[in-house]
Amino acid sequence: MKSKKHLSKLSMDKSILFDKMDEYKVHDIRWKEGRAFSLVFYGGEELSDITKTAYNKFFTENALNPSAFPSLKNFENEVVSMVSNHLKGGDDVVGNMTSGGTESILMAVKTAREWAKKNKPDVKIPEMIMPISAHPAFNKACHYFGIKLVPAKLDSNYRVDLEDIKTKINANTILLVGSAPNYPYGVIDPIKNLSELAIENNLLLHVDGCVGGFVLPFLEKLGKSVPKFCFDLEGVTSLSVDLHKYAYAAKGASVILYKNKELRRHQFFVTTDWPGGLYGSPTVLGTRPGGAIAAAWAILNFLGEEGYLKLIGEIEETTKEFIKRIKEIDDIKLVVEPAMSVLSIKSDTIDIFEVNDVLQQRGWHLDGQQSPDSIHFTITHAHGAIIDEFFKDLQDAVEIARKLNTKLSGIKSGFQKTLLKSMPSKMVSKIIDKESQKVGTEDERTGKMAPMYGMMASIKNNEDKEMMVLNALDNLFSAKKNFKVGESL
Ligand SMILES: *Cc1c(COP(=O)(O)O)cnc(C)c1O
Repeated sequence: MKSKKHLSKLSMDKSILFDKMDEYKVHDIRWKEGRAFSLVFYGGEELSDITKTAYNKFFTENALNPSAFPSLKNFENEVVSMVSNHLKGGDDVVGNMTSGGTESILMAVKTAREWAKKNKPDVKIPEMIMPISAHPAFNKACHYFGIKLVPAKLDSNYRVDLEDIKTKINANTILLVGSAPNYPYGVIDPIKNLSELAIENNLLLHVDGCVGGFVLPFLEKLGKSVPKFCFDLEGVTSLSVDLHKYAYAAKGASVILYKNKELRRHQFFVTTDWPGGLYGSPTVLGTRPGGAIAAAWAILNFLGEEGYLKLIGEIEETTKEFIKRIKEIDDIKLVVEPAMSVLSIKSDTIDIFEVNDVLQQRGWHLDGQQSPDSIHFTITHAHGAIIDEFFKDLQDAVEIARKLNTKLSGIKSGFQKTLLKSMPSKMVSKIIDKESQKVGTEDERTGKMAPMYGMMASIKNNEDKEMMVLNALDNLFSAKKNFKVGESL
């Protein structure tokens, strides 16, 4: 039986309130100390103060109706314009700010669907072809908008396999997707070839520059060779770039760009018969927080090209140092040479998830990945200062894993770990019962979480996996009985 939390009868004293909030934080990852290799982009106190000040100045304003707040309208248009020029957009390129990469991608896919209704009227069930390495926001978009997702294989360099795409393009195809770079491996799909395919077949092409869009052009300016992925390629029709990642804006800031206004009109939503009046909305959200828009404008102007070149140049140096030191450690290696500061490591000889377990115990937060089993790094400004400390722990972790060498493989990430812990114990034991014959010995199954992931991963039926995750989500987002302040999930 679950006991639900009620609104307290009496008001809470301000000081108690904020103390309580700090107590809730005790098990959160220590991102300020460079312990998080995902989720948080921290550029230091000065940048953080600037975005907070800007955010607070427009804390209450609402970008739902831009004519009520010319300030926000101007911020948004200037941000879109700065980002568009940064990505080689000409005079015709237009766009909007959204709440994040997911919303930008949802918009691009929805736009493609509406474009196809007009331009490919014979298509009944539209299809989108995307590399399996593309972000799950695309799967979500297909799920929401009734589009058939056609996954494309990767080549041996973890880039999308063009030959596979060619065999999958048919009369129902409306949209191709490429990433610059993709999140799991940090490599850039062959966007130039995708652009040619899109033109030849009268298709739209979305380039996901959510993580790389603000980095790659600066790396190019710093002298690194970067393949084309922007609007200077004729076939690129939309591009997404997150500002709340490497642009160091406050969370809730991304940009979706389109080749021209005509295409963007398919993004908008209008209804004219509501008693409340004519209603037009550019993106998914209704009320749009002014703070996120203002903070993005502020940080872009504060840093400018000069600031970003310095910041991104430093991150590139940190990344090079990480790569060099990874290569010095036996038994681990890069999955593939990355295009920027997003990368993953694997092992052919030890259990890479044991390595991650040890790192986790020592307070580092890295996500586990599948295909291949690997652990993922997003390297940011915060990591320049912790290189020695991290590599000492990584070296230890590899040695410990070498000794254990359970050779079990599985899926592990902070998120999945949380899911697993939140699954009803009955279910976990059922999984163990079902899977124990297949994987591992009695010994390997005692004690640590690690072997359990092996069992989880060995469940081949996707419907079973889906059901498990759905149940875990149910449990995660429920009030727990006897929830203690500061308790981790
Ligand atoms: C982060 C990311 C996204 C999704 O962005 P959110 O802001 O988390 O919604 C999409 N694509 C790539 C490549 C990303 O790294």
